[in-house]
Amino acid sequence: MTLSLAKIIWALGCIAWFVIRWPHQRRSWRTPVVARPNPTRDRVLMAISFTGLFLLPLIYGVTGQPKFANYPFRPAQAWLGVVVLIAAMALFYRTHRDLGRAWSVTLEIRDQHRLVTHGIYARLRHPMYAAFWLWALAQALPAGLIGFGTLFFARVGHEERMMLERFGDEYRAYMARTKRIIPGVY
Ligand code: SAH
Repeated sequence: MTLSLAKIIWALGCIAWFVIRWPHQRRSWRTPVVARPNPTRDRVLMAISFTGLFLLPLIYGVTGQPKFANYPFRPAQAWLGVVVLIAAMALFYRTHRDLGRAWSVTLEIRDQHRLVTHGIYARLRHPMYAAFWLWALAQALPAGLIGFGTLFFARVGHEERMMLERFGDEYRAYMARTKRIIPGVY
């Protein structure tokens, strides 16, 4: 493993991320929205997350700036990052498949929205966010953890309240038997 190879793998990871999401994004544009509680707040949070997870690492990878973020390249650490990146990708793929037309990039209730509790959603309520956490961990840069962490903690409570409003006792029961992102823990 070399630094250049690690950068190429990072870029391939970004492309895979996009390829996994694209068909769902297209379908999502065609699915009517019933409720969208706070789109502006969502967009700001997404911009913060995108900056930390993608934009700053891209700038750092291409220009080496900011210099204070520099640390020695360790091949073993890069390999570990690749393993976590692959796990993140597999989870990201699986969550899109299980969520199907219930998926949306901002918080929304869709036309004929059904509560998904099968597949990976039988174990966790927010496995897609877990995949983003893994992606941030794989990069091992504080920017991603802070950027995505801001979105996650500012959003997850709102999302659960929205789901409770829409699905009531069905979601309450689902919350009682699942964790958010770490099975059995949180
Ligand atoms: N928080 C989930 C989903 C992220 S996508 C995860 O991390 O896997 C965000 C959209 O998914 C929200 O707009 C919400 O309407 C929808 N959603 C979240 N959990 C859901 C579930 N269990 N069933 C159906 N839709 C869900």
